[in-house]
Amino acid sequence: MSAAGRTIILDAGTGLRQLGAKLVKEGAKDATLLLTHVHWDHICGFPFFGPAFKADFDLAVMAALPGQVGGIRSVLGRQMTEPLFPVPLEQLHARIDFQDFEAGLAFEVGADIKVRTAPLNHPNAATGYRIEHAGRALCYVTDTEHVPGNPDQRVLELIDGADLVIYDCTYTDEEFPAHVGWGHSTWQEGVRLCKQAGARRLAIFHHDPDHEDDFMARVEQEASAMWDGAFVAREGMTIWLD
Ligand SMILES: [Zn+2]
Ligand SMILES: [Zn+2]
Repeated sequence: MSAAGRTIILDAGTGLRQLGAKLVKEGAKDATLLLTHVHWDHICGFPFFGPAFKADFDLAVMAALPGQVGGIRSVLGRQMTEPLFPVPLEQLHARIDFQDFEAGLAFEVGADIKVRTAPLNHPNAATGYRIEHAGRALCYVTDTEHVPGNPDQRVLELIDGADLVIYDCTYTDEEFPAHVGWGHSTWQEGVRLCKQAGARRLAIFHHDPDHEDDFMARVEQEASAMWDGAFVAREGMTIWLD
């Protein structure tokens, strides 16, 4: 996302490669990467992020990892070791500032972008983000598992009155019982949380890779019938919060 001339990147999945190419083309000089956690689907794009190879680029990388894993620099560095990857982290020429923090902390990115965080319910832990600028709030809440009938109070507080909530909608309520303990939630829970928190829009996100286009079209139909703020996130989608 971008606000006040700053680029804030949420997680480092496969989309990071194309975003990096775009930032290089635009001559961007800095970015902040906020990571929810370090499961593969959230960091596999990092070694392919073009700006990280540019000496005149400033990159802040922030994550709240469990203490015993050794910090975000170490984890990303381990991903970039042979034979997993031939280019070590030390060969990234950008000025990279790795910052570890505790989930629940609030901080600022630049002068006027406020970030709040909350711990999520996920194997190996994950962090949810709320990013505020100019009276608008975007929330990024993935990966997280809900407890049916018992809405996550920390998530409700984080997304309170938000303009856009990007939520872990991996499953449907029907599929959920077979995946308890897998660390993911449902689009129906996303709708319930957004309605209860007075949020404006829900981006149905983190699709199960087994859900094909027809399935997602049905999800979009059912979700928007249940609540008109809901829509299915697609690759390359642009959303303006104004
Ligand atoms: Zn995960
Ligand atoms: Zn994930």
